[in-house]
Amino acid sequence: MTATDTTPLIKLEAISKIFYTDDVETHALSNVSFDIRSGDYVSISGPSGSGKSTLLAILGLLDAPSKGSYLLQGRSIEGIGASERAQIRNDSIGFIFQAFNLIGDLTVLENVELPLIYREGVSKSERRALAEAALDRVRMTHRLKHYPAQLSGGQQQRVAVARALVGQPSILLADEPTGNLDSRNGEQVMLLLDELHRSGATICMVTHDPRYAGFAQRQIFMFDGQIVDEATMERLREEEDRRIRNLVAVHPRVRA
Ligand code: ADP
Ligand code: MG
Repeated sequence: MTATDTTPLIKLEAISKIFYTDDVETHALSNVSFDIRSGDYVSISGPSGSGKSTLLAILGLLDAPSKGSYLLQGRSIEGIGASERAQIRNDSIGFIFQAFNLIGDLTVLENVELPLIYREGVSKSERRALAEAALDRVRMTHRLKHYPAQLSGGQQQRVAVARALVGQPSILLADEPTGNLDSRNGEQVMLLLDELHRSGATICMVTHDPRYAGFAQRQIFMFDGQIVDEATMERLREEEDRRIRNLVAVHPRVRA
């Protein structure tokens, strides 16, 4: 194996993120380190407010850490300018959001073509062919001319997955991709991600649902801006449950 074969796709070292709002300092991430290798399927779970979306935004170059180092394909992303950052994001990263984030006045096909418009050397006809191929992978070619509002939530998320895939990114980042879906549609999206992973996609997915975290090869647990191991997570969850049960016992009208 050469040196490049062993270079992780993503390497985070001692990442911290502090948000300053008015007089409040929020330590959203403290000293987070981990690697993602090409072909990995990693899930990040943890309670609301534990820093999952902040971490994903940093991974996806939507936000910068306050401290720590981030290497993407062996290259430091520290201090790079906004336009280069946008370029790397467009070339290397595919996003899937909880709220789908499709553009309402573009058709399904146009939404999926969009990331390729900023690519040099992709002709109109190539763009169309690539978008159709991506929509075929998510089984949405029967709705090319539809608008997002004419689709179910599950279908919209499949189109959003096609949009994330179309530029052949090095990694798919998904933030609660099933959060706005009922369980049947949620499962379908999870099965789709699983299928993409089996065919070689690298995925990092945030979820608050432990059943879905189990789809991943590797699970990362977050609590209070830090990565904790599974046993610690279980203990913290139980403590939290106990705290809520006590609260209910003291205040009979409070329902957890
Ligand atoms: P999660 O996705 O796990 O629910 P987040 O990463 O969204 O958690 O948030 C982690 C913490 O950082 C929370 O306390 C949240 O209120 C805070 N936070 C997130 N984004 C911002 C922001 N833009 N400005 C200020 N505080 C923020
Ligand atoms: Mg979140």
